[in-house]
Amino acid sequence: MDKITEIQILCLNRNCVKWFNSPIFFGDMDSLMSSTLIGNKAQCPHCKEMTPCNTANMRVKSTDGGFQGLDTVLSTRD
Ligand SMILES: [Zn+2]
Repeated sequence: MDKITEIQILCLNRNCVKWFNSPIFFGDMDSLMSSTLIGNKAQCPHCKEMTPCNTANMRVKSTDGGFQGLDTVLSTRD
């Protein structure tokens, strides 16, 4: 299984919309998907607003290459 090296969340504040590193880190996809991070909120370091953490606004970087959207990862992991 690929190891996650970086997790980023997209701030959904209309005046911000910047990527920032997730405040919570997971070592692999199983840990990420079973976590309580999804559906929670995280504070954006750029605008200081709380923004939701969902698969739609999250991307991960794994040992096999560059960033991938989580939906892409899920659809190709089987
Ligand atoms: Zn922000």
